[in-house]
Amino acid sequence: MKYCLGLDVGGTKILGGLVDERGRIVEQVQQPSHPDRWPDVALEVVAQLLEDPPGVVRAVGLAVAAWVEFPSGRLAYAPNLVITNRDLVGEIEDRFSLPAGVDNDAGAAAWAEFRFGAGGGMSDMLMVTVGTGVGGGAVLGGFPYRGSRGFAAEFGHVPVSMDGPRCPCGSYGCLETVASGRALGRMARERVGEDSAILELAGDRAAITGELVGSLALNGDAEALSLVSQLGRNLGVGLTGLAKAFDPQAIVVGGGVSALGDILLEPARAEMVARYEGQVDPPELMIAAMGNEAGVVGSADLALQRAQV
Ligand SMILES: [Zn+2]
Repeated sequence: MKYCLGLDVGGTKILGGLVDERGRIVEQVQQPSHPDRWPDVALEVVAQLLEDPPGVVRAVGLAVAAWVEFPSGRLAYAPNLVITNRDLVGEIEDRFSLPAGVDNDAGAAAWAEFRFGAGGGMSDMLMVTVGTGVGGGAVLGGFPYRGSRGFAAEFGHVPVSMDGPRCPCGSYGCLETVASGRALGRMARERVGEDSAILELAGDRAAITGELVGSLALNGDAEALSLVSQLGRNLGVGLTGLAKAFDPQAIVVGGGVSALGDILLEPARAEMVARYEGQVDPPELMIAAMGNEAGVVGSADLALQRAQV
């Protein structure tokens, strides 16, 4: 059995795993990290996992929450990590004598879903991760699609409104500004009335979060359900644009907010159906199957694909 090593690099922790050819994590390590020190923590995690592997390790892959230049692996924009001038790919290759590569985290998750999860058997699949922000990944014609420089599939930053809210990326009206966990919190802060149960529970308008609204919606609170439904319709507008641009077999929805399930996806689906009316059926919407392991499994398997080319 061949193994690859995958790392999911976040702002506060790094999860690493040895992954076999069937996408199973056979050994894993998690270390707290820091936006400044992440390259050193990443090297430590790789070293730990390579101490006593069960078989031959072929390559190392990193999934990073950043816009990642391909094939250099250089980070171009990372909201939660400090970008250094270090050549981490080169450092890993020199120190451990293994080929290494870096991918965007949602791109790696999309690849994991395509290879081992919800996208099994498909050739064209998009993934949208809805969490605090919105990430994206694309598999087209059976291959990961990265665009000319590596910055493709940033679906959270596709504009959906001419003059919508300011986005952390610097632009305006991005899908992320109207269809993320952060957007759900903002919409609630703007809209709830003085006698709202959401406001009463939060104690203060400024303390209302998307998480609170989501949990109330799951408990059947009508106002929270209506806000989640609006979020779903906003998401559906964005997904319709993606579907019409790429004509995938399915769009897989992952990320923390996707745990809301049907109360989010049904309104999104309805919006897509309405915007495909009289044309063809829209592609299927599916919930991601790989959970928190997607970044580790996807980055490891992408590293293997690269090593085999
Ligand atoms: Zn943006």
